[in-house]
Amino acid sequence: MGQGPPEAFIPPLNGAGPTPEVDLSLVKEEFERCNSDIIDVHLHEAAWFDSADPLLTEMSLSHISRGLMLSVYGPIPSPFSDDPNEFTERMINESNGRIYGLASLNTTIPDWDSNGAVELERLATYLEKKPGFVGGKVAAPHSCLPLNSTMMRDVLRTISQSSSPVLFTHIGTTPFCGPLGNFVFGRPACCGPEFVDPMHLENLIQEFTNTTFILVHAGADFLPPTGENFYGGENAEKSIMLAEMYDNVYLEISAFLDETSQGPQILDKIAQGGLASKTIYGSDVNHFPNALGSYLATALDMFIEAGFDQEERCMIFAGNAIKVFGLEMSGPTMQPMDDNAQEGEGEAETPETDVAMTGLSSSGEIQFHKKATLPAVMVLIWASYGLNLL
Ligand SMILES: [Zn+2]
Repeated sequence: MGQGPPEAFIPPLNGAGPTPEVDLSLVKEEFERCNSDIIDVHLHEAAWFDSADPLLTEMSLSHISRGLMLSVYGPIPSPFSDDPNEFTERMINESNGRIYGLASLNTTIPDWDSNGAVELERLATYLEKKPGFVGGKVAAPHSCLPLNSTMMRDVLRTISQSSSPVLFTHIGTTPFCGPLGNFVFGRPACCGPEFVDPMHLENLIQEFTNTTFILVHAGADFLPPTGENFYGGENAEKSIMLAEMYDNVYLEISAFLDETSQGPQILDKIAQGGLASKTIYGSDVNHFPNALGSYLATALDMFIEAGFDQEERCMIFAGNAIKVFGLEMSGPTMQPMDDNAQEGEGEAETPETDVAMTGLSSSGEIQFHKKATLPAVMVLIWASYGLNLL
């Protein structure tokens, strides 16, 4: 103690590499009961796909009909694409109506007063002119963007004036708040209350009444109880309170639904608050292949355990996202990926579970689609912690 490097908090690396066979029979039944529509609103770029097909195949195998891909701009460039909005747009266009996008902008540029207009235009262009983009997203702690700030108000003004007035915003802490932030970003993320406490959004929630605020991760804690910036569930409670108080506030529940986390407590509070109609399913786990199905199966178990009935679960899995993002009422017909398909009758390939799928080479580097190779460990950390990145 006191010697050596600071102790890093390592959350479960959902999807980090091959996962054991997961029984998805209950998920399949749920999918059918929910009008064959389960929507995952939290998908990311990742090293293992450069076209929509591998992701769509995994979605099908996991009984996920549709998804939203998040564009991510931050203090360091994406290792996966030259321009995240462009990448998202390509996935939308290749997805046959199964992938939608959340546009973003870079709020970490210097001198926002002089340079912000270009970034706001980037956001507006994708929100307004590009089909398939259904809202805008930011991640305050990662980009050190105070929730109640001129920059945030500028972002909200742009979003509120668009035809997709939805703000998808990270709320709560992230593992990047500590030494990991230093390692990846060159500095820790910003995790004081002004960046992670949803009450700092309240005046903007009141001001931009035409805009839906989706509180991503519902304010969950992603830091150890022993360290700095541990909020002890406070931000989740405040997020739930805001969703109760304001018609234009919703909760997104990605990344914390695993057995070792605060997931059950947060879901219990959502259920007790009668907030099934304000809660949206997302995973934030597609950083590696073969993660979507197991996360969904765990989430379904937890929803049942928390007492959500069938109608409520279908709202969380699809209905609320359809309403908030203005999606078509039912998803495109999805080629069923049943047992036969997995046995080779289907056209799509079953995702491999070996390292080839990740692009991991024998020299320990990951081959990126567009970028130079980086040490594999760096990418694995980036991707793993991307669970809570945005
Ligand atoms: Zn994420």
